[in-house]
Amino acid sequence: MQKGTISVQTDNILPIIKQYLYSDQEIFLRELVANAVDATQKLLTLANRGEDVGDVEEVLIEVSVDQEAGTLTISDKGIGMTQDEVEKYITQIAFSGAKEFVEKYKDAKTVIGHFGLGFYSAFMVADKVEIHTKSYKNEAGAHWVSDGGTEYEIGESDKADRGTDIILHIDKELSEYTQEYRINELLTKYCRFLPIEIKFGTETQTIKKEDSEEEETFEVDKIVNEPNPIWAKKPADLTDEDYLNFYKILYPHSEDPLFWIHLNVDYPFNLTGVLYFPKLRNNLEIRKDRIHLYCNQVFVTEQTENIVPEFLTLLHGVIDSPDIPLNVSRSYLQSDPEVKKINRYITKKVASKLEEMFKNDRENFETKWEHIGVLIKYGMLSEEKFYEKAKNFVVFEDTNGKFATLEELKENIKDLQTDKDDKLVVLYTSNTNEQFSYIDAVINKGYQVIKLDTMLDPHFINKLEQTQEGKVNFKRVDADTIDKLIEKDIKIDSVLNEEQTTKVTDLFKSEVAESGGIVNVQALSPSEPPVLITRTEFMRRMKDMSAMGGDNMMGNMPDMYNLVVNANHPLVSKILERKTEKTQQKLTKQLFDLALLQQGMLQGEKLAQFVSRSVDLLK
Ligand code: ADP
Repeated sequence: MQKGTISVQTDNILPIIKQYLYSDQEIFLRELVANAVDATQKLLTLANRGEDVGDVEEVLIEVSVDQEAGTLTISDKGIGMTQDEVEKYITQIAFSGAKEFVEKYKDAKTVIGHFGLGFYSAFMVADKVEIHTKSYKNEAGAHWVSDGGTEYEIGESDKADRGTDIILHIDKELSEYTQEYRINELLTKYCRFLPIEIKFGTETQTIKKEDSEEEETFEVDKIVNEPNPIWAKKPADLTDEDYLNFYKILYPHSEDPLFWIHLNVDYPFNLTGVLYFPKLRNNLEIRKDRIHLYCNQVFVTEQTENIVPEFLTLLHGVIDSPDIPLNVSRSYLQSDPEVKKINRYITKKVASKLEEMFKNDRENFETKWEHIGVLIKYGMLSEEKFYEKAKNFVVFEDTNGKFATLEELKENIKDLQTDKDDKLVVLYTSNTNEQFSYIDAVINKGYQVIKLDTMLDPHFINKLEQTQEGKVNFKRVDADTIDKLIEKDIKIDSVLNEEQTTKVTDLFKSEVAESGGIVNVQALSPSEPPVLITRTEFMRRMKDMSAMGGDNMMGNMPDMYNLVVNANHPLVSKILERKTEKTQQKLTKQLFDLALLQQGMLQGEKLAQFVSRSVDLLK
C-alpha cells in the first residue's frame, strides 16, 4: 500500500463537518446508499448505450452488518472506480468540496450531499473507512483506507467483481449502527423509494409444493425498498387503488384520504409527486410534517414549510424535485426564485383540482366541505392568488344543510337582508346548539342563517368584508336584537316616558353592574323578548381573533355585553306597576336571570337562587 496526504489547507475539516451535521448524523447511510445508486445507474446508462460493461442482470445494492467485527458494509455492482479515480473522486474532489462548504456556509445548517461531501459523512459514525472497488474498465481493483485524518492509504485490491464495497468500522460508542433494527429503521426512512433494489438480510418465504399439501421454505433476499413508487409513474397507468395503497404505505395508521393530486412537470422545473387531502375535520392542529420531500427518490426531509405554501402543509404525500436547492439555509429558500415557481405551481394545481371538483361534481364537493373547507379558507387568508380562484368555489352551509357560494348567498338574501344603508347582512351562527333561541328567532322572521364554526372564520369573514368593499356585513345571530341585526328604516315609539325609562334602567343596572354588562333600554316590537343579552359583532370578533392568535391582551378582556331591555314588552310595564321596590327588584332579577340562562351564563349559586325564586313566584 502507498501512503498519501489529502491536500487541504485546513487540516481539521472533519471535526467541522461533524459539528455542522451532528444533529443529522444518521444521514450518512442515505449518502452512501445514494452513491451506490448513482454508480449503478451510471452503469445501466452505459449498458443501454451498448458499451460492454459486463453483467447487468442483478445490480442490486446490499447493506450488511457484522456486529462482531463492528462493521457496516454497503456494496454495489455499479461502475466501480479505478485507483486513479479513487484518488481523484474520493480524496481530491471531496475535499475541495469540504473547503467550499466550510467557507460558504459557516453559519448555515445544510444538507451535506450536495457538496460532494456525501462520502465523508461516513466519518460521522466510523473511525475507519475502507473502500474496495473494481471498475467496469477491467483494471485491477483498488483498496483505500482512511481514519478520517488528512492521511490515507491506497493500493491494489483483490476484489474480483465489478462494483464497490464501502466498509465502515463503526465507532465503538455508536454501536447502534451495527444493529440490524437500527439500520433497518434508517433504510426505511431514507432509502425506501430509491430506484435500485436494496437488499438487507434475508427472509423466509413459504410456498406450497405443487400437487401436495407439503410446504417448502426458502431463504430469499429481503428487499427493503420500492424502486418504482407511484409518483414516478404516469397517472394514466394508475388506478385509485394504487393511490390508496401507496397512501397506506406512507401513513399506515391513517384514515383513507379524500382525494389526491398527481403532480408532474418538467418545465420550467422538474417536479413530480402526489398530494393527498386528508380528512381534516376543522382541525388545524394536525401535524404539518407529513409531506415528504425527495430528490430523485432520495428522501430529504419532512420539513417542507418553505417549499410548499404554508396552508398546503396540511396535505400529505410526496414531492420529488431535483430542482429544489437543498444546500442553502431554510430562510434563504423562501426567496429562491426556483422555489417560488414551485410554490406557485403547487398552489395553482390545488386550486384547479378543487375548482374542477366543484364544477363537475358539486354534490361530492359539498359532502367533503367539512374537511376541505378549513384548508380552502386558510389558503384564501394566506395566499392572494389562491383567494382570487377560491372565492368562486368557497361555499357556505346554512342551518338547513344547504350550501351556497357567496354570490348565490347574496342573491338568496338580498330581498330580506338588506339594511337601510343598502348593505347586505349575512347572519351566521358559530354554535347551533348554544345559539338556538337566537337562530330560531331570526329564522321565524324569514332570514337565513349560515354556519361559520371553524376557528378561522372570524378572520375569514373579516377578509371577505374587506374585499367586498363594504357591501356585505357578517353578523352573528346574537350580535343584536332582531330589529337591529338588520336595521330597517322603521321607527318604533316607546310606551315608556323618560322618567319610566330611567327607572327601568336603574333597576336593571343594579343587577348587571357586577358582571360588566351595559343596560340599554330600547323601543322594540312588543313581540321581541323582554330582555336579551347581545354582544356587538365588532367587539366579540376582536376578542375571538385575538384569542386565536394567542394574544392575551384582548383574549383576557372582561366580557362586555349589552343587556337590551325591550321598553315595549308588556312585562316591563308590569314591573313598573308593582307597588314595592322589593317586588320590582325580584321581577327584574327574574328577567335578567332568564336572559343569562338563554346565553348559558347562569351558573352556581346564581342558578340555585333562580330556581328557588322561580318556585316562590309560582306559588
Ligand atoms: P457526490 O456523490 O456528491 O459527488 P461524494 O463524496 O459522495 O460526493 O462522492 C464523490 C465521488 O466519489 C462521486 O461523485 C463518485 O464519482 C465517487 N463515488 C462515491 N461512491 C461511489 C461508489 N459507490 N461507486 C462509484 N463511485 C463512487
